[in-house]
Amino acid sequence: MPENLPEHFYHFDQEKLFCFSCHPGVACFTECCRQLDLALTPYDVLRLKNSLKIHSDRFLEQYVIIEWDERVVFPQCYLTMVDDGRASCVFVSPDGCTVYPDRPSACRAYPVGRGARQEKYGCVDECFVLVKEPHCLGFVEKATQTPGEYFIGQGLAEYNRLNDALTAILHHEQIRKGYRPNRSQLDQYLLALYNLDIFRQEMADGRITMNRPLRPDELQGLAGDDEKLLLLGMAWLQQELFDNDCR
Ligand code: SF4
Ligand code: SF4
Repeated sequence: MPENLPEHFYHFDQEKLFCFSCHPGVACFTECCRQLDLALTPYDVLRLKNSLKIHSDRFLEQYVIIEWDERVVFPQCYLTMVDDGRASCVFVSPDGCTVYPDRPSACRAYPVGRGARQEKYGCVDECFVLVKEPHCLGFVEKATQTPGEYFIGQGLAEYNRLNDALTAILHHEQIRKGYRPNRSQLDQYLLALYNLDIFRQEMADGRITMNRPLRPDELQGLAGDDEKLLLLGMAWLQQELFDNDCR
């Protein structure tokens, strides 16, 4: 087993082909939707709350467990699992995923894992792992693809674009140098990235502000475009975390 990776995880070259296919005919159908820690990105929450047509506040209350671990810089959001003896995902059914068109990034990418890090000049450096867990029978299927081809097939381009935008905060130079946000800034992190409907209301009402005029795309975010609002949330958070002289 390669060093520094959990069991069943293998470093993987993005140009390399792998055999894999997942479909309702596999004997293990939905096995991977149980007993898992499913971390949600802000864009995952945006898609899921819109899929369910509910307010972000209610989505967080009903479907998200927020983990505060002092060893991790920012709080982690996990999807709730059901207490059915198998710790099944709250969205799994005998027919598969009930939110399939809006399923989270990690579900789309599985069995490939992708790490992204923002390098100089805004470039994103990617690395991949292949997760070969014994319960997953998709590897005996004949279809072959590279991770990039697999991601296109799983509709990950938009997810990766918005997830990668977050690396400007997660891997910010000040964070890398050891700066740690305080509790009130961590609450701002959850507000601007995960509770978009409340963030929109607070900004529209002037209770929180940018220290510069909003750009036209940001105004579209306030007017109803959630993806543009998420990018505005990231810009506001950068201002609050990294541009404040009081730190
Ligand atoms: S969201 Fe859908 S694909 Fe992901 S674990 Fe739950 S049921 Fe499975
Ligand atoms: S365990 Fe693997 S093959 Fe089976 S449903 Fe999940 S991803 Fe597909």
